[in-house]
Amino acid sequence: MTAKDTLLLDQGYQPLRVIPWQRAICMNFLGKVEMVAAHERPIRTVTREYAAPAVVRLLGPYRPQQYIVRFSREGVHVRDRYTCQYCGNRPSRRDLTLDHVLPRHRGGPTSWDNIVTACSPCNLRKGGRTPDEANMPLHVRPLRPRWMPPTRTALGLDEIPPPWRDWLLL
Ligand SMILES: [Zn+2]
Repeated sequence: MTAKDTLLLDQGYQPLRVIPWQRAICMNFLGKVEMVAAHERPIRTVTREYAAPAVVRLLGPYRPQQYIVRFSREGVHVRDRYTCQYCGNRPSRRDLTLDHVLPRHRGGPTSWDNIVTACSPCNLRKGGRTPDEANMPLHVRPLRPRWMPPTRTALGLDEIPPPWRDWLLL
């Protein structure tokens, strides 16, 4: 993510995700999006200077299968609604942990389908066991989300670029 990246809105002005500015320019060129707001600093090439797209809006329907949600720690919590997938409690942020369903030392990958949100007591109790061995069944099978709301934390940003502030719910 760079300061020039672009927030993509759907037709109804709801934020969808962040895309590289180069892609936004390309989509604009192809007539798929319209410019809504520009970054303060323009893009300069050798011969000319043009506005850096900060926010663009899709002119057609959104097709989420066109992209893959990248794995992130914060994304797992967002997917699981900050709820422990073992006991169903919503721990405080301090007690929010990530659990490898199939433990790491037994080859469990760090991926959407093997990582769930767990409160620290459940994580401790489960230890290096599988849900079956620990008798702690998962109520929902973890999957890669098809879409992730672009929030500041989900995007891993310290600060939201000013032109995005009107569009993002934080
Ligand atoms: Zn728990």
